[in-house]
Amino acid sequence: SGRWARASAIIKELEEKCGTPTEKLRQVADAMAVEMHAGLASEGGRKLKMIISYVDNLPTGNEKGLFYALDLGGTNFRVLRVHLGGKGRGIVSQEFIEVSIPENLMVGTSDALFDYIAAELAKFVAKEGQDHQPPPGRQRELGFTFSFPVLQSSINSGTLLKWTKGFSIDDAVGQDVVAALSKAIERTGLDMCVSALVNDTIGTLAGGRYINQDVVAAVILGTGTNAAYVERAQAIPKWHGLLPKSGEMVINMEWGNFKSAHLPLTEYDHSLDTESLNPGDQIFEKIISGMYLGEIVRRVLCRIAEEASLFGDTIPPKLKVPFNLRTPDMSAMHQDASSDLRVVREKLKNVLEISNTSLKVRKVIVELCNIVATRGARLAAAGVLGVLKKLGRDAVKDGENKKTVVALDGGLYEHYTEYSKCMENTLRELLGEEVAETIVIEHSNDGSGIGAALLAASHSQYP
Ligand code: ADP
Ligand code: MG
Repeated sequence: SGRWARASAIIKELEEKCGTPTEKLRQVADAMAVEMHAGLASEGGRKLKMIISYVDNLPTGNEKGLFYALDLGGTNFRVLRVHLGGKGRGIVSQEFIEVSIPENLMVGTSDALFDYIAAELAKFVAKEGQDHQPPPGRQRELGFTFSFPVLQSSINSGTLLKWTKGFSIDDAVGQDVVAALSKAIERTGLDMCVSALVNDTIGTLAGGRYINQDVVAAVILGTGTNAAYVERAQAIPKWHGLLPKSGEMVINMEWGNFKSAHLPLTEYDHSLDTESLNPGDQIFEKIISGMYLGEIVRRVLCRIAEEASLFGDTIPPKLKVPFNLRTPDMSAMHQDASSDLRVVREKLKNVLEISNTSLKVRKVIVELCNIVATRGARLAAAGVLGVLKKLGRDAVKDGENKKTVVALDGGLYEHYTEYSKCMENTLRELLGEEVAETIVIEHSNDGSGIGAALLAASHSQYP
């Protein structure tokens, strides 16, 4: 009938516009490498901020003692306590709590957000036993993982450039986030100092390196997306400080803000962007990361509901609510292996209050999820190829069979198997078998928090 024809036409158009043939992905990777050079050349005005992290030494395995970490992502934050055993002994023990961030605090004031976080931190410390007391005269030390763009001025200071991922707290922009956190900690009466401020990518890189010395880059695919890698200090024209002894500097790319004419964008992406809290920003993030994938699917479904009456004569009210279809629900539907797609049926019913769907309608939904997730995953792979190109690890060098390890983390990567499989297969496809053999993607489980604790240890005020 006419309505199925209309629905198919919309899906076909989406599929074409979301197309990511290998050639296009190569162009994206090349553009990423070009933007990396540009961001390293000068400060400001660039798509890729290529932020100098002040981390010029990654963990060696010798770090020792009790350290804390606070990991503020986009959805939750975690407080960790890590007992590092020192040379060859690894992590002796670790404890953590995870707390969700109330939505009103994401768009409130800086003090309200940091007071809330500091209070949870103080509660966590208050619960610990006598054996966790720091030695007399010593402060507890914390590594702060803060997953938003920060212009660092040292290993433990930096000003917030802008918010991303649903956060919008005006009075925090331009402020030193370590000062804000430290003041809030002080207000709770807790005696703790912030020894390292790190992006989650840097934390993941540090956590990954602790376990595997071949780790040279880290990528986060969670609520948002970002990457970090180890650069040669001499290849950073905008760095005017002393050359670090190691000759290296870790760079926080802030790749979520990547943009290129080669990116396959649709009308749904344009409207999502225009109506977002940060229009024009974070375009790469808005097509590949967890905060947005479900929302893109919802927008396509709205159009099909409107123009092809997919769910009957009216558009289901819950479908019209922005961000009502979350990526975990999308991935559950996409990965529904039952013959009658009962997970899809349940999700439609429970999440969007759409009941009595036919199998044919449910198949359409799975197809939509597949189109949107595939585009995201393939572009994420192109981003990784761009970083490997910049590192000169995208080709096999004669007589070398050095392994290159990329640490991956984030809820999207961890839980959306179709997505991560597609990303990894695409990377193989782009690299070719011979080079692919030398590249390893390693899941760095909660590396971002542990990495911050490790960096707090190596930048401790008590050397
Ligand atoms: P953050 O990025 O906020 O630090 P995480 O790395 O834990 O936090 O990622 C959380 C994000 O991962 C969620 O916002 C969601 O988009 C995505 N996610 C979590 N679970 C799933 C899932 N089962 N399927 C797909 N995506 C998921
Ligand atoms: Mg995180």
